[in-house]
Amino acid sequence: MTTHSSSIPATKGLAVVTGASAGIGAVYADRLAKRGYDLVLVARSEERLQALADRLTRETGRHVEPFVADLGRKDDLARLEARLREDARITLLVNNAGIGSVASILKADVDEMDAMIGLNITALTRLTYAVAPAFAARGSGTIVNIASVVGIAVEMLNGVYSASKSYVLSFGHSLQKDLADKGVRVQTVLPGATATEFWDVAGYAAQKTSAITMSAADLVDAALAGLDQGEMVTIPGLQDVGDWTRWEEDRRAISAKFNNAKPAPRYGLDTASAA
Ligand code: NAP
Repeated sequence: MTTHSSSIPATKGLAVVTGASAGIGAVYADRLAKRGYDLVLVARSEERLQALADRLTRETGRHVEPFVADLGRKDDLARLEARLREDARITLLVNNAGIGSVASILKADVDEMDAMIGLNITALTRLTYAVAPAFAARGSGTIVNIASVVGIAVEMLNGVYSASKSYVLSFGHSLQKDLADKGVRVQTVLPGATATEFWDVAGYAAQKTSAITMSAADLVDAALAGLDQGEMVTIPGLQDVGDWTRWEEDRRAISAKFNNAKPAPRYGLDTASAA
């Protein structure tokens, strides 16, 4: 049965959501369809994508297209990059697909770490590179990159995972600098522990039911509220936004102090007499 109203509102354009078959990405798909976006939903699991697409089309009347792709594979990634470059209806990219681990560096398999870098960093970067010039040429578009609080609290989980999320945060700052005057918005979202299958893959399923764990629905609703409010970095679990503002002010302040022709006096080099 069709539950949407017979008059479907005009589309807000086409949103591409990676990692949309489960967890945070599936909630983004739901909320964006309800906000009036048509969707391209990307993940490996065709069955799950199709079931979600069928439900969202039934409930909202939006056009929802499953796009089955393993973003760890170059050929699949290239297909999605081409779509992002060429489809002028695309107004929003949510770079959400990602995998994690709780294994310490010495216990983690390096090939698995390499695959994690491939998905969390390389795929996110290539998809951004595919869509950003198109958005800039059209003078509008939004990129949402899903990082993590462990991109800052780097000692909490597996080091490669944390570092991959530090990359997403840093990359976001640079994108904001380079794209702001082109009419392109970039939001970086830092979820804390969120109740999804991420933790089954990462190797610590108990985290899904911990007292500090947020629901994926709350996480995405807060992230979209942050986007509406014009936030460039959104940290749904951080209660006092002043903590972030101060951190960011300190980062910018120290950034202005790094470059100096002379090493600091604490290193004891007498630069006047050094050969
Ligand atoms: P999830 O429930 O495990 O969902 C991950 C999604 O990514 C699934 O749709 C999965 O679908 C897809 N995916 C995995 N490998 C893929 C690949 N090679 N190619 C294409 N799609 C792939 O995890 P989640 O919690 O929603 O994670 C979403 C994002 O939030 C990730 O970037 C994660 O790092 C970040 N995050 C999560 C938490 C948390 O506590 N859950 C905290 C901070 C940040 P298929 O298996 O069908 O491909």
